[in-house]
Amino acid sequence: MSARRTLIAGNWKMNGLTAEAKALAGGLAEKMNAVGDVDFEMLICPPAILIPVVAAVVQGSNIKLGGQDNHANAAGAHTGDTSTAMLKDAGCTYAIVGHSERRTDHGETDQVVNDKAAAAHANGLIAVICIGETEAQRDAGKTLDVNGRQIAGSVPDGSTAENTVIAYEPVWAIGTGRTPTSQEVQDVHAFIRGELAKKIGDNEAAKTRILYGGSMNPKNAKELLALPDVDGGLIGGASLKVDDFWTVAQNA
Ligand code: PEP
Repeated sequence: MSARRTLIAGNWKMNGLTAEAKALAGGLAEKMNAVGDVDFEMLICPPAILIPVVAAVVQGSNIKLGGQDNHANAAGAHTGDTSTAMLKDAGCTYAIVGHSERRTDHGETDQVVNDKAAAAHANGLIAVICIGETEAQRDAGKTLDVNGRQIAGSVPDGSTAENTVIAYEPVWAIGTGRTPTSQEVQDVHAFIRGELAKKIGDNEAAKTRILYGGSMNPKNAKELLALPDVDGGLIGGASLKVDDFWTVAQNA
């Protein structure tokens, strides 16, 4: 049995207003409180503006909170951005960095992601560092190359199993209803753990959680979460409904 505690993480992206956020977080908190001890860790990552609202609702439950992004700098002239101190102040213990939507929409490079993850670490947040190949890269047989390069470039010095989670998210699987086969997911995760070991050592890599993300849902979660090197999920669409997210978590 793995010592890695399964992490079920919901990325709400740019969805929800106050009422929906309260209902969603409240529904999950109710379920978590009703079951008591669970074998998994639940994390929700609301839009930054809704974090305080959600923090108030989940207070007293075991649900953890995370940002969807953070700036690499501690403070200053960065209009529209959120610092790690702000996330922490609002109740977060995690921050997602390097999501493919940020890499695409905001041109974030591996170096930018590396700097953001380092900033998260510096402020005591656990960085969920996202990597993954595009469909064209997959078709060109470059899946392992791309993920290996992203691990090498995006994981900062000082990363440990305590302060870092990797999320493998094939870009072509995000929001599409398509997923790689279970064998492909396991193979890529095992490869990622090996690449991570080159950066942080075998011991830390063996303890680091590697999440799968990309159209994980109540139907496929059981099979994906049972894979030996899959230590949880980063879930977009299915994290927006209490019952769907809860069903995914029940398969952890
Ligand atoms: C995501 O964006 O992190 C994600 C995995 O989305 P979805 O579950 O909707 O594919």
